[in-house]
Amino acid sequence: MPELPEVEIVRRGLNDVVAPDRAIVSAEVLLPRTIAHPATAESFVAGIVGCRIKHWQRRGKYLLAECLAADGKLAGWWGVHLRMTGQMLWVESATPVAKHVRVRVLLSDGKELRFVDQRTFGKMWWIDASEEPQEIISGLGKMGLEPLEDGFTAKYLYHQLQKTQRPIKTALLDPAVVAGLGNIYADEVLFQSRIHPKTPARELTADRVDALAAAIVDVLQRAIAAGGTTFSSYTNVHGINGNYIGQAWVYGRGDLPCRVCDRPISKIRLGGRGTHYCDRCQGD
Ligand SMILES: [Zn+2]
Repeated sequence: MPELPEVEIVRRGLNDVVAPDRAIVSAEVLLPRTIAHPATAESFVAGIVGCRIKHWQRRGKYLLAECLAADGKLAGWWGVHLRMTGQMLWVESATPVAKHVRVRVLLSDGKELRFVDQRTFGKMWWIDASEEPQEIISGLGKMGLEPLEDGFTAKYLYHQLQKTQRPIKTALLDPAVVAGLGNIYADEVLFQSRIHPKTPARELTADRVDALAAAIVDVLQRAIAAGGTTFSSYTNVHGINGNYIGQAWVYGRGDLPCRVCDRPISKIRLGGRGTHYCDRCQGD
């Protein structure tokens, strides 16, 4: 599943192809249940056609395009969540339409944004300028701070973790604590900060949380620099995979030797999620 770094890479790719003179000339919804709002695919298409995309933002794992009307005023927001297997691809509109294409958004210069989604959990929203994105997309309203923005500090994280007895791994996956971190990177940051994933969040000292907050920023930045993680269906807007997983400390490395101490990496289930750690490097 794409996590914060992968969604951030998609966002950057989308912004690279934003151009003020590129209008959306038509759109086609091939799988109506992809559209979460408004109620029908037809009203999604009616909202988005004629707009120009000004800028793509990311909040957690949600992508939000600010869309302008012909007069330059805000027309609304185009929201996208990739969920399990969604891809936003930038293609020539003459490119043959593959099996798993769910939504096509055609631009005025023969280009197209194509939403491909094999597992069909991905969602899209058209949010009119008269509405508020956080009222339409419920996940946006209860989200914690963005780990790569200035307000995200060790003090903030410590305050959030003091509120919960859940294991730290589980707490890190809660978007109300950290927006969009995800399972792969939660395992990675716990290894890098030498914290056992089962440690009750509230028991971490301020010093440990300092190390954890620094690891969150470091791991996410390195993952973005590596182009994200290669797994099933994640690609950037040009269909290219990332290669972070080749340098992962623990994720996906169950039974392989720890890169630091050679002990085999443990794999357990915690809060329903596969969890990888080294019980020597991350011992209590
Ligand atoms: Zn180790």
